Amino acid sequence: MIDTFSSDKPIGSNCLGVEICVRPGMPPEKRFVMDNRTRVLVTGAGGFIGHHLANYLVNKDYWVRGVDIKKPEFEPSAAHEFELLDLRVWESCIAATHGIDEVYGLAANMGGIGFIEKNKGIIVRDNTLINLQTIEAARVNHVKRYLFSSSACIYPGYRQAATDVAPLREEEAYPADAEDGYGWEKLYMERICRHYMEDFGLETRVIRFHNIYGPLGTYDGGREKSPAAICRKVAQAQDGEAIEVWGDGLQTRSYCFIDDCVEGIYKLMRSDYRQPLNLGRDEMVSINQLVDIVARIAGKHIRKVYNLSQPVGVRGRNSDNTRCRAVLGWEPGITLEEGLLRTYAWIAEELRLSTKGFLPMGASVGALVSHV
Ligand code: NAD
Repeated sequence: MIDTFSSDKPIGSNCLGVEICVRPGMPPEKRFVMDNRTRVLVTGAGGFIGHHLANYLVNKDYWVRGVDIKKPEFEPSAAHEFELLDLRVWESCIAATHGIDEVYGLAANMGGIGFIEKNKGIIVRDNTLINLQTIEAARVNHVKRYLFSSSACIYPGYRQAATDVAPLREEEAYPADAEDGYGWEKLYMERICRHYMEDFGLETRVIRFHNIYGPLGTYDGGREKSPAAICRKVAQAQDGEAIEVWGDGLQTRSYCFIDDCVEGIYKLMRSDYRQPLNLGRDEMVSINQLVDIVARIAGKHIRKVYNLSQPVGVRGRNSDNTRCRAVLGWEPGITLEEGLLRTYAWIAEELRLSTKGFLPMGASVGALVSHV
């Protein structure tokens, strides 16, 4: 990990007057790559969306640098270069954005609702440092485009108080009442992106994800989201057993499969649309329905035990895709059933291989998913 910086070869300075230098020890070929391809940086490339996105961009023939504090958990990155850097540190942000044309900012300290409700101070501190310094370093290093990964958590709580909630439209972010901590930092950063575009000419894109899920995502340890947690619990349960559901299970959400997510990110980055845009499905289900779909995929009868003491977030949330269709001529198309089929298959197989699950010996994922 690079955490020191030489000051003997300044190449510029940031807005605080701190000198910017070429990273010591960086091989010359990494400073000046003789390559006509667009050079992109994916921050958070060791994480769920960042990893899928880095692979997607390599397939699109971009030159890709991935940066994270950790490598991808489940398979190696396809990125041409992968740097372990802590983006809370200014010098790391400068090193990460050096020689880069476009930044996809996916790095964040985050997790499921349990994690974001119990770690607000850590989350706003880390994510403010990561995002503000990465965009400033992008400006200093003459990056042309910068995509910020925002969230449905920026939408006001008062629009999400019922289970049969109206889908959220982009213009409904104000008057603001974002998710405490995590959501406020996202909303603030959306505004920073606008200021950097208006005042410094950095082309910024802002995408508001609505519950992204799929294979290669965290499925245990406390940072996992509801689809992964439910897939894990169902995979570990015996037929006829009960799993714990947080809240009363009536809370509603929409879920967007990872393949649609990376395609939407790419389409927005390539578009000339400069306002925040939703990226989600508008197929809303309750958590109870989510459990039932996963149980059906697994071919198991699963009962639910409700834990009302656990955090559940807003009562209802759905994505309005009117603007997405108008701007991108496209919207996420992979159904929840299809996406969960692929997600469950991957998590069940992971559990079987790691012996964390209780799948019967010889039960193949193919056999499990054939119950759909
Ligand atoms: P993730 O946790 O899998 O990935 C984030 C990555 O950022 C992790 O690999 C983490 O190690 C890395 N990171 C954390 N601190 C860092 C630091 N100091 N320096 C460098 N890297 C650091 O999360 P994800 O689901 O891939 O989310 C990616 C982005 O999308 C985040 O900004 C997140 O807030 C946003 N988002 C995700 C969802 C979703 O449903 N997954 C929903 C809304 C918004």
